[in-house]
Amino acid sequence: MKIIMLGAPGAGKGTQAKRIAEKYGIPHISTGDIFRANIKEGTELGLKAKEYMDQGLLVPDEVTIGMLLDRIHQADCKNGYVLDGFPRTIPQAESLNKALADMGEAIDFAIDVDVPDENIVNRMGGRRACLKCGATYHVEYAAPKADGVCDACGSGLVLRDDDKPETVQKRLTVYHDQTQPLIEYYKGQGVLHSVDGTQAMEAVFESITGILGA
Ligand code: ADP
Ligand code: ADP
Ligand code: ZN
Repeated sequence: MKIIMLGAPGAGKGTQAKRIAEKYGIPHISTGDIFRANIKEGTELGLKAKEYMDQGLLVPDEVTIGMLLDRIHQADCKNGYVLDGFPRTIPQAESLNKALADMGEAIDFAIDVDVPDENIVNRMGGRRACLKCGATYHVEYAAPKADGVCDACGSGLVLRDDDKPETVQKRLTVYHDQTQPLIEYYKGQGVLHSVDGTQAMEAVFESITGILGA
């Protein structure tokens, strides 16, 4: 099963993608997590990505597409995957389509987690991230057991630099300009499904499993 998560930054794509990955036994592939891991390790790719991420801009397609295609050709992807944060531009979607078509494959589901901009600022302002293991919390809606400490690995939690209000506005503008057109693109391919992302996390997950099936 090959699944794409669509939706604004902070809509809950990552939260839902992790649960989908667990339930269906497929890898969760987040391009944002891959970039952050590279930044932490100080790789050349990380240095390049950081320039853009800090400004709330997209990392250029020529960097992002190759990285994602390498990842989905790894052995653990042979029964499918859930992509979180890719594609984010029409050229990314077209490259993915072409790479899959070359292998006689296609995306099965594109799930749009729909959340209006008004709710996004609150979601992002309260998001706390563990940069060590990638776990995500929310101060109000998904609080860790101990304040500021990751339940999963015990590391300190941070407010991501790009989750500060100035950058969130920029990321929303970029989303509407460059990523939202993908909703029509996948509708045209007959694989688009929308869920109401303003529901509680559990209800969103039920809507999604209703689409994906048992
Ligand atoms: P969020 O989960 O809040 O939507 P991500 O972790 O997915 O954020 O992405 C963080 C940043 O990484 C983005 O703002 C962008 O700069 C970069 N990024 C992630 N995925 C892509 C992509 N597919 N194309 C270009 N840039 C990306
Ligand atoms: P994305 O990957 O789309 O950027 P996340 O999954 O990281 O979004 O969610 C953004 C923030 O909102 C996180 O702090 C997360 O805990 C919280 N969150 C996710 N889904 C919901 C929901 N349905 N209701 C309330 N808060 C949510
Ligand atoms: Zn952690």
